Amino acid sequence: MKIIIFGSTGSIGQSTLSLIRILKNTQKFEILALTGNDNIEQLCKDAIEFKVKRVVTANKNCIFQLKEKLSSYNVEIYAGEEAILDTARMGADWIISAIVGFAGVPPTIEAVKYCKIVAVANKESLVCAGKLLMDTANTYKSKLLPVDSEHNAIFQCVNSENPKTIKKVILTASGGPFRNFTLSEMSNVTVAQAMNHPTWSMGKRISIDSASMFNKALELIEAKYFFDLKSNQLEVVIHPESIIHSMVTFIDNSTLAQLCPNDMRNAIAHTLNYPERKKIPIKDLDLTSLKNLSFEEVDEKKFPSINLARIILKTKGSLGVVFNAAKEIALDRFISNDIKFLDMSNLVEKVLQLPEMSEYECTLLYSIDEIISLNNRVRQISQQIRI
Ligand code: NAD
Ligand code: MG
Repeated sequence: MKIIIFGSTGSIGQSTLSLIRILKNTQKFEILALTGNDNIEQLCKDAIEFKVKRVVTANKNCIFQLKEKLSSYNVEIYAGEEAILDTARMGADWIISAIVGFAGVPPTIEAVKYCKIVAVANKESLVCAGKLLMDTANTYKSKLLPVDSEHNAIFQCVNSENPKTIKKVILTASGGPFRNFTLSEMSNVTVAQAMNHPTWSMGKRISIDSASMFNKALELIEAKYFFDLKSNQLEVVIHPESIIHSMVTFIDNSTLAQLCPNDMRNAIAHTLNYPERKKIPIKDLDLTSLKNLSFEEVDEKKFPSINLARIILKTKGSLGVVFNAAKEIALDRFISNDIKFLDMSNLVEKVLQLPEMSEYECTLLYSIDEIISLNNRVRQISQQIRI
């Protein structure tokens, strides 16, 4: 099986390699390419271990370092955004889109044109280009499989059911590190506190997005496009144990759930082995030691991001691009101590309310260049918004 890993140095990328390291004893894999950004050390280590054909860093300033470290190996070395797009064009049996943020969107669109299976971890691809991505996959007969644990769970629950019989989808959320904080306690939290996720080990940005529940907000929009759902078919429930990864209720009121220990290698392996299932090296689910699976309503005063997502869900245009770009800048500004934790949702709300954004409630951008240009414009605007 020929494989490409976009974002191999990140949390999902490393989980993928950890899985392949074990599965390669019984299955044949050929890793065609790995892509990363600044972590050249990790990129080189993995390129050598897995004897990859090509390595790419998104950061052009790192090319000399990359070339120097790999000078005695027979490997193609490239840098820059265009080189990542070109890597998708190598074609593969399975590619995982695990770049963080909007940077992952154009490569995912390109991947569906050239690769048989595209495992999508980069939720921004569906938030910003959901319709374009699903349609392109359809046109090029590429299979999109969700890696996000909630969406992978939904995918497994829906399985061969008739999509028309889905009544609603219930996404679970851990509630993050501030689930038991009061609103006033949340007003002064630090970046380190926000990164301290109680149940999952993930990259820095998605960890903070989980603390603000912007991650769940993005996932609601992701689910809308992945499963072609209406806004009133999407719900979120807090489930602090993170064992049920999501649920689907059908029109006969049967609800199916997918349960698994919280290890992303489960969802990654599901897409890698699809449509088969294979034994993978993660721990067993031990329900008796867990004792409780609990559920709570989301407090939307503490987590206004969920309500903001509902605005996007009700629209047909490209407001998802606006939402994501404003959120990415809000996150940057929180990380650099420019704004407070709760101001991230204030900033996103302010951007969504700008008169010039109302156009995107109905206007659906259907080319990647238009999507990139709106993303850039909203990022610029969001930098300048005063809080
Ligand atoms: P991460 O920060 O750990 O890794 C991100 C990867 O993207 C790295 O390889 C990095 O080098 C690369 N990258 C960063 N900026 C880039 C740029 N401008 N151009 C090209 N590459 C760039 O992130 P992660 O936690 O692995 O998450 C990756 C994606 O998967 C995100 O979209 C996230 O929302 C999604 N996701 C992650 C998890 C998880 O458990 N970590 C779960 C579900 C979904
Ligand atoms: Mg998730």
